Amino acid sequence: SQHKVLVSACLLGERVRYDGSSRPVAHDILEQWKAEQRIVSVCPETLGGLLVPRPAAEIESGFDGQDIVQEKGKVITKQGHNLSQYFVRGARRTLDIANGQDIKVAILKANSPSCGNEHIYDGQFARQTKSGMGVTVATLIGAGIKVFNEHQLDAAQAYLLTLETIAEQTQDSTEAA
Ligand code: SF4
Repeated sequence: SQHKVLVSACLLGERVRYDGSSRPVAHDILEQWKAEQRIVSVCPETLGGLLVPRPAAEIESGFDGQDIVQEKGKVITKQGHNLSQYFVRGARRTLDIANGQDIKVAILKANSPSCGNEHIYDGQFARQTKSGMGVTVATLIGAGIKVFNEHQLDAAQAYLLTLETIAEQTQDSTEAA
């Protein structure tokens, strides 16, 4: 069976970023997945109740998404408003959607405080990143979902193929037994 793939809405051209922009990605793999009707679009921050446009937010220095999930540290605007509850709610809603569609793989936008899988902005609002994951990524990874970013589509496709090959082999051996 074919797995669906969770994809950040802003990478699909939806204008859901804090400033009302999108970051559309043109890539053969995404086109193929669209044709195969695999793509499930999500924007964790709008799912969490934040509006477009909204103030830019970063996870405060010294913390990452894993900490936020554990209620340590905050996601803040430049003015210092605490938006953590929106980010946590958005992450949970995203996980609910993923679980509802039996999703195992996600392509989420690099560096975002929600969607960044390897790096996030460092909390100084100076467009600098540090190692760490966003709030949604921490939530999805905790549930066993593999998260790639828009620069890792080849690796994501290879992973998906491996999953589906294993599933077919398991089915074959069940049928043979
Ligand atoms: Fe894109 Fe994720 Fe930010 Fe939504 S929360 S705009 S999907 S990076």
